Amino acid sequence: MASYKHYKEENFNKVLFDYPEAGSLFKSGAVADAAKLLFEKQKHEWPLLKKGTQSLADTKFREINFNGFKIKLQYNPNRITSTQAKTDNKSIKERECFLCYSNLPPEQKGILYEHEYLIVCNPFPIFDEHFTLPNINHFPQAIKGHFRKLLNFSKDLSKHYSVFYNGPKCGASAPDHLHFQAGSKNFLPVEQGFETIKGLYGEDILSNINIEVTGVNDGLRRFISIESINDKLIINVFELLYGLLQNLINRNEEPPLNIIAGYEEERGWRIIIFLRSKHRPSRFFAREDSNILFSPGVVDMGGVCILPREKDFKNLNKEILNEIFNEVVLGKEYFDYIKSGLRKRLDS
Ligand SMILES: [Zn+2]
Repeated sequence: MASYKHYKEENFNKVLFDYPEAGSLFKSGAVADAAKLLFEKQKHEWPLLKKGTQSLADTKFREINFNGFKIKLQYNPNRITSTQAKTDNKSIKERECFLCYSNLPPEQKGILYEHEYLIVCNPFPIFDEHFTLPNINHFPQAIKGHFRKLLNFSKDLSKHYSVFYNGPKCGASAPDHLHFQAGSKNFLPVEQGFETIKGLYGEDILSNINIEVTGVNDGLRRFISIESINDKLIINVFELLYGLLQNLINRNEEPPLNIIAGYEEERGWRIIIFLRSKHRPSRFFAREDSNILFSPGVVDMGGVCILPREKDFKNLNKEILNEIFNEVVLGKEYFDYIKSGLRKRLDS
């Protein structure tokens, strides 16, 4: 359950949650409704968000069909800064952190969640309603030690939203500041088509009445899904998976991954963990003709490829998508190692 009581004790001068109706919704535990109302109010009162949502309404979509699933292309010029974000240490040190509450624009209001996160609207939305969920303190993006919070957020916001995580080297445009994102539930094709994709391409790793763990390789993406109503079981599987991935990279840093966390009252959580080999494809850095400004993070893995340039939106086809995805997702032999490692550890 989210808490509101510390709100007044904290002195978030610039990030005040000053919509009383949303405040009372939040206090009653209706976190998703409170967030929805926050977005509604902010959309009218914060010009940057108003512009962002209007420009989203004008975005163009194209669909590319694969066997059993589809990938959507979204032409979204408003995302150019995020797609091109420089996330190397030097560039990060030289810029002001846009997720630190002291740097948020005065119009940007937020909800303080569980004493340590803010729920704020993303003024460059991909989803009809798009939130950033930054920690109130400035420290590096990492899922280790914070996975539980992803579960809490996804449960509390589940009425309207799913919650997302991009690894620090795998799509997060602020790798120096811990944050999640939330966006309209079932907007991503992988959420809508999950059962079909799992049926066609999934392999059971563990399946009993309490939990289902599945490895899915649909030809474009390789992911592990964890479905359960029991948070402790989910955390256990995630930690085993994380350990295996870390063995694989053999470095003391976070393995590249993207996560979608959804929750339904009847069946509990569904966590989708996309396993990656790297963030940006070589075409991102290529010259002229073969260059494509595509910087895949969790939304792209989920089946909505964000393209800020019209030329890429027009040119991207099935063949190039196959090439790019296979370059940035974890290789098949490594994926097999992860699946069998997970199976062994879960059996014992
Ligand atoms: Zn920061």
